Amino acid sequence: MDLAAWTTKLLISAALLGGYKAPPPPPPVAVLSQADLSARFCGGGCRARGAYLPDRGILLAEGLDLDANPRDRSILLHELVHYLQDTAGRFASESDCDAWRDREIEAYHVQDRYLDRYNMAIGNVAAALEVAPAACHTGAPDGPPEAMLFRGDAP
Ligand SMILES: [Zn+2]
Repeated sequence: MDLAAWTTKLLISAALLGGYKAPPPPPPVAVLSQADLSARFCGGGCRARGAYLPDRGILLAEGLDLDANPRDRSILLHELVHYLQDTAGRFASESDCDAWRDREIEAYHVQDRYLDRYNMAIGNVAAALEVAPAACHTGAPDGPPEAMLFRGDAP
């Protein structure tokens, strides 16, 4: 299945798992080299493999094996959750940092529910964000690179 087909399929999964109504049309998805993605969004200092930017859509690191690797697919799924959040306006009334945290918690929960089907849940990331609300108020949270990346680019 190609990238567009996976995007359409995973958007439906993300909507079902996240409790969203009929999903909007899929966002644009572009593939960048790992180095480009990292350099562009975190000064080369992270290994972010996906990002969602409200004005540009989803950026994925090249080399993800969507056909064979559920974990790789779950990265696209995670970013699609951010797209659904954005288009649905979920968490839009919260402060930037609270919205960032709640968006990440939901995206990781959906990602885990998806990976559960394959007995590959990553666990703990959403829980860690939930018990660390202070991350919003102390600057850089020790979250996963993607989370910091998303936060840094959130409007
Ligand atoms: Zn995220």
